[in-house]
Amino acid sequence: MSARILVVDDVPANVKLLEARLSAEYFDVMTASNGTEALALARRAECDIILLDVMMPDMDGFEVCRRLKTDPATHHIPVVMVTALDSPSDRNRGLEAGADDFLTKPVSDVVLIARVRSLTRLKMMTDELRMRAITSLEIGMQAPERTAIADAGKGGRILLVDDRQSSYERLATILAAEHTIDVEPNPTEALFHAAEGNYDLLIVSLDLNNFDGLRLCSQARSLERTRHVPILAIAEAENSTRLLRGLEIGVNDYLLRPIDKTELLARARTQIRRRRYTDHLRDNVQNSIEMAITDALTGLHNRRYMESHLATLAEQASTRGKPLALMILDIDYFKSINDNYGHDAGDDVLREFAVRVRKSIRGIDLACRYGGEEFVIVMPETDLHVAGMVAERLRRSIAGEPFAVHKGTKRIEVTISIGLTTLEQKGEAVADVLKRADTALYRAKHDGRNRVVSQAA
Ligand code: GH3
Ligand code: MG
Ligand code: MG
Repeated sequence: MSARILVVDDVPANVKLLEARLSAEYFDVMTASNGTEALALARRAECDIILLDVMMPDMDGFEVCRRLKTDPATHHIPVVMVTALDSPSDRNRGLEAGADDFLTKPVSDVVLIARVRSLTRLKMMTDELRMRAITSLEIGMQAPERTAIADAGKGGRILLVDDRQSSYERLATILAAEHTIDVEPNPTEALFHAAEGNYDLLIVSLDLNNFDGLRLCSQARSLERTRHVPILAIAEAENSTRLLRGLEIGVNDYLLRPIDKTELLARARTQIRRRRYTDHLRDNVQNSIEMAITDALTGLHNRRYMESHLATLAEQASTRGKPLALMILDIDYFKSINDNYGHDAGDDVLREFAVRVRKSIRGIDLACRYGGEEFVIVMPETDLHVAGMVAERLRRSIAGEPFAVHKGTKRIEVTISIGLTTLEQKGEAVADVLKRADTALYRAKHDGRNRVVSQAA
């Protein structure tokens, strides 16, 4: 899929020039000639990157950028300011407005394409996460955009890899004003240090003695623990080919020496904010995955998860020639608990029941809420005899100790019936195993409840 770039400039010739260069690299280009038009397009159309001219009549680029970055609908779109002015104070105004990067007119082709490519990769990753996280929004989680917009990007944990004392002392002092900073002057230790430290940002000097800083960046990108930590490279101005190479391998941003204090702080903040935003998205995705497979009342797995996972467990047991035990547990006369003490008391019983179940089983056992007051426990590598002992222990743990309801003001007797069986024949359908356990449960109920009935395969 080719990325879609929105080019915003009030001078038609500038638009044409950028459009031609980007199209030649197969980017999809949209254009706008003023800020209002750009904001409308950005809100409506899905553009991946915005190249924004600074000097425009009516609304200047800084203001457009500020609005894009404070709107939850557009805040995640990377913005590159394209400016004829190149003084630190202009760059800093842009960074304060939330810009992700700068290009100075006349824009060099190589730099343009390298920046656009690297921001595109980042955007694609964020989009993937946002798309998945939308599900979590639908089930009521907090919108990460709000938090991200409110985040000033301060208070981060930074690791600075630089072996020149005069340089790292200066940089560390600047950064310490807003962040916690560790310095690693030994590049061979840096990767280990980075993986251990749970950092929000790595700042890597590319002018290390006897060590290739780019190699370090590339290793940090491939290591699980540091893969998502943003990297800010620092280089001498004459080192621009290496910088471009860095962007290709996943360096997120760079600064050229001599380092401007305000710009360093602003770029660090931008990276840290983005890191927190994507972490937040990633957490939401993780949570929604968990919610999709978990029963909300008891915290046990839900039926959907059990059914898909049971097939896998049965297959594993068959191929390894190991037994697999399965039991269905059903609370006795649960309806009368609801009738006599209320639905909330019934819920209390279900929750406490799940707590006791968890205490009685092993980590590899799978416990799930199968229906209202019906539960299934699957136990890998467990034969009927051992499973029978576990079931009996479970039955006693329920019947032996009354359940507290109504915030502990009342205690009620609860019992369960359990139907138990095993899968021992190779390749038996899980539906048949469940059915056999259910028949055993039916017998347990019929024989008087509060008991375990085993049914061999
Ligand atoms: P048996 O001993 O034969 O199992 O009788 P029982 O009353 O337990 O069985 P029955 O299937 O007749 O009733 C189950 C009741 O569980 C009916 C339903 O209202 C209640 N129930 C189902 N889900 C929940 C829940 O999440 N919370 C509460 N409080 N009750 C629930
Ligand atoms: Mg202009
Ligand atoms: Mg019941």
